[in-house]
Amino acid sequence: AGTLHVVATPIGNLGDLSPRAQQILRAVDAICAEDTRHSRQLLAHFGIETPLLALHEHNEDRQAGRLVARLQAGDSLALVSDAGTPLVSDPGYRLVRAAREAGMRVSPVPGPSALVAALSVAGLASDRFAFEGFLPAKAAARRERLARLAGEARTLIFYESAHRIAESLDALREAFGGERPAVLARELTKLFETVLDGSLDRLAEAVAADPNQRRGEFVILVQGAGDDTDARLAEGRRTYAALSAHLP
Ligand code: SAM
Repeated sequence: AGTLHVVATPIGNLGDLSPRAQQILRAVDAICAEDTRHSRQLLAHFGIETPLLALHEHNEDRQAGRLVARLQAGDSLALVSDAGTPLVSDPGYRLVRAAREAGMRVSPVPGPSALVAALSVAGLASDRFAFEGFLPAKAAARRERLARLAGEARTLIFYESAHRIAESLDALREAFGGERPAVLARELTKLFETVLDGSLDRLAEAVAADPNQRRGEFVILVQGAGDDTDARLAEGRRTYAALSAHLP
């Protein structure tokens, strides 16, 4: 039987497609891609001519059976998404589950993911974190989701797109308080890569003030609740400054 290779692709910088990813994408019988036109461009850059098949939200259930049959017949397949690691806020879990249930080998080719890339530069606690993907688009559902997360002690990680970034930052400061430390990672590995840190208030203001800061793709990271080490340190420094003004 064939293997299903789950292959991570770049989140912006083409140099991040690993040599092993290139080799496997070249060698498999077919590549299942979220958007075949998008992936064809990536593959063309590397001179890879493997046939592409569409596998997206709307046909995944239907396609999964067919693809498992191909694996059983001995074909090897790769699964990619538009960017980063498949299944991370992207299609693929139904196919992976169907392949595993059929006893097929499913093997990862790890690589970029915006979530880990952002966490690796945020400087927030990273020993435990909770990935929340995209917040609900509707205000009421978003408020409800955030209310349930307000007491979460782990670092929270959200994905966001350009057209909702301002709205989401506002919702976050409303739910968690504007003082909560956070990091906004934009366009990672791309030309306009920007990592801003500060309070949710500061990030919301920076994004509101500059239309350029609303362009591109975002990861929002929020410090967990109850870790007030920074707040206590800041207060200590303020007290010391106030007292030292009165010292001889
Ligand atoms: N599977 C992808 C991964 O592993 O990161 C995520 C796919 S999800 C549909 C797309 C979202 O990922 C974007 O809206 C953004 O939140 C985040 N993202 C992707 N590329 C990014 C980048 N270069 N910089 C910042 N965020 C990015």
